[in-house]
Amino acid sequence: MIVKPVSADSPHITFPDLQALTNIVPVMLACYDVATGRCIYANAPYAALGGMTCVEVLGKTIEHIIGTDAAERVKPHFERSIALQAPISYTRPTNLPGDDPNWIEVQLVPCGKPIADRVLVMVFDITPHRLAELKSLEVATRLGKFMQASTEGMAFHVKGTITDVNPPLLNMLGYTMDEMVGHQTLEFVPESRHSQAKQAMASGAETTYESFAVHKSGRLLPVEYSVRDFQSDDRPQRLIIVRDLTERRAAEERIRFLALHDVLTGLPNRVQLDDHLNELVAEAHWRRDQFSVFFIDLDQLKRVNDSLGHSSGDVLLASVAERLLDFCEKNSLDGHAPWLARLGGDEFVVTLPHTSAARCYQFSLQLQATLQRPIDVHGRNILITASVGVASYPDDGDTPSQLLKNADMAMYAAKGSGRDTTRFFDQSLARAADYALVIEEELGQALRSTAFVLHYQPEVSADGKRVLSAEALIRWQHPTRGLLSPDEFIPVAEGLHLIVPIGQWVIDEALAQIPRWRQLGWHQAKVAVNLSSNQLRAPGFADTVLKSLQRLDLNGECLELELTERMLMSDDASVMATLMRLKQAGVSLAIDDFGTGLSSLSRLRNLPIEKLKIDKSFVLELPDSASSVAIVNSILELARGLSLAAIAEGVESKEQRQCLVSLGCQAMQGFLFTEPLAANEFETWLTALFVHNAATTRA
Ligand code: C2E
Ligand code: MG
Ligand code: MG
Repeated sequence: MIVKPVSADSPHITFPDLQALTNIVPVMLACYDVATGRCIYANAPYAALGGMTCVEVLGKTIEHIIGTDAAERVKPHFERSIALQAPISYTRPTNLPGDDPNWIEVQLVPCGKPIADRVLVMVFDITPHRLAELKSLEVATRLGKFMQASTEGMAFHVKGTITDVNPPLLNMLGYTMDEMVGHQTLEFVPESRHSQAKQAMASGAETTYESFAVHKSGRLLPVEYSVRDFQSDDRPQRLIIVRDLTERRAAEERIRFLALHDVLTGLPNRVQLDDHLNELVAEAHWRRDQFSVFFIDLDQLKRVNDSLGHSSGDVLLASVAERLLDFCEKNSLDGHAPWLARLGGDEFVVTLPHTSAARCYQFSLQLQATLQRPIDVHGRNILITASVGVASYPDDGDTPSQLLKNADMAMYAAKGSGRDTTRFFDQSLARAADYALVIEEELGQALRSTAFVLHYQPEVSADGKRVLSAEALIRWQHPTRGLLSPDEFIPVAEGLHLIVPIGQWVIDEALAQIPRWRQLGWHQAKVAVNLSSNQLRAPGFADTVLKSLQRLDLNGECLELELTERMLMSDDASVMATLMRLKQAGVSLAIDDFGTGLSSLSRLRNLPIEKLKIDKSFVLELPDSASSVAIVNSILELARGLSLAAIAEGVESKEQRQCLVSLGCQAMQGFLFTEPLAANEFETWLTALFVHNAATTRA
């Protein structure tokens, strides 16, 4: 066989050349004679199927070369090709050398005219191609299952056109499959986010970013898109995983809210207040403006918590918050509303921007009036009041912490001056606070060095002739400040819990006077001691009192304990048990400063008390003030009704005494008779009284 040269000069290609060429192509080639069914040509790879050379294979049947089984499978294709007189091809697995699965593609081409008398066989090893196909099918199947099972939304797109979506994405966006497949991805992204989406697409990068998706209803959903490249059906596709961030956003929102708000009232909390104050300071500094900070502390929350329980306290706080918020909204100035936060407990803070002193004062009055209306707590009308302290930028401080501290200090001063009032910060308050700090340090030392002394003020009959008892009043002999009155250090001692040992010292010291007074002729000698609530609540208080009496061999009748209304109004069972024990031991109990507290009359009836001490503020205005006369009169009537003794404190003038006597009050205490006296002075006073009484009796 001679093949025509490409050009006249080039050498001829010979049959051996072609034979050599066909032996190295990656195709198995053979030719069969149709009439005899025998091989008339094969290249080396084909002959190798039968374990023969190209020459050995010539004249052999197909059964001989590829085996009977394989020949049986091939024959129908041969026959079909000849019958059709046209090439056909088919693929089938085969057992080519090696253990791995193999696939071949066989092409049968009938040759010869007009009727084909030979069939050309070409066998291609398509194993790598087939394996890749299977792999891609497997991946597609696995991905299909994954898409169905996934709870995340998924979509495929080719160059922006959606080719597939899974049910979770359809659910998330509210569309059907037809409404998404074939559409552009951008149709499901809000226009404002198109450039972001286009950028992600154009970059071709595998990326994750947060954006929005458009729900069928038009609602925007916050989502996270994760884009991945994916090869499927020979096409580069992009897989988008769509994660709905609505819940995550809501949780983040909640966390952010909780970090900046008070849970009970929903108002801004301390953290937000600090930020807000920083902003106000910066703005006021820049504008050379002023603003004020109102520190509000409710006067009755503790009482409500103690008597009605903490859930009632919570209801009260929520109502107060609502009322204050409403007040702030209605009291904006030039479009700037006052701003409200809750610091915790019963403390609220309001900031008032762009304020003048006059406006500040007016605002504080309105604020106080707002709170004074009764609040409904579980069906009970609770009257509340607030103590308010005000500090203004820049006069009272130019940093948030200084302003808060000074407003707080002013609020404490408001509490000290009788509650339900507003105090504006001034430097004297700061000095007082410094003083309290110094006192704190020195009090412990005073107790160790017995720098306290007791003065005694007698309680007498209206004519001043009979001494009923003597009230022990503590003083502090301070090394540099002189003799300090109890109001100057008892509140500090209470805060430090030093009041318990100081109070114990008072009881022991006061009782120690009884034997001396008896010696002077006062056989019924009795001393009255003031108590603090922490003392009364201290464990074992009754025991320590009874032990003190025992030590001096005294009975309970020698001692009277003065309590305040506030101390008696809580439902504390242990306090009640303490009082009952003391009373059983003969110790008498009196309510001091009666009329200034919050006594409930029904409760008063059940308390083991014997005496009411009418507060000196009512006595002071006798006899001119009709309301004071009315109050004193009703206290006396109440005492009579409850079979309690009554005594008027702070009697300074004869007119007051006269008025009290006319109202039926026979026991008194006050400067009219004597001021509180040091122990030795009191003994002198007592002796003088007895001498005087003896003289008048003789006369
Ligand atoms: P208190 O128990 O109501 O005592 C009466 C206060 O009124 C005393 O003030 C007394 O000096 C004063 N006073 C007496 N007569 C008159 C008067 O005619 N006119 C006026 N304007 N005042 C009069 P003091 O001694 O400064 O005591 C103040 C408060 O300190 C006492 O009020 C009492 O609550 C408390 N206190 C005194 N000693 C102790 C103590 O040992 N322990 C505790 N926990 N508190 C004490
Ligand atoms: Mg007293
Ligand atoms: Mg009093």
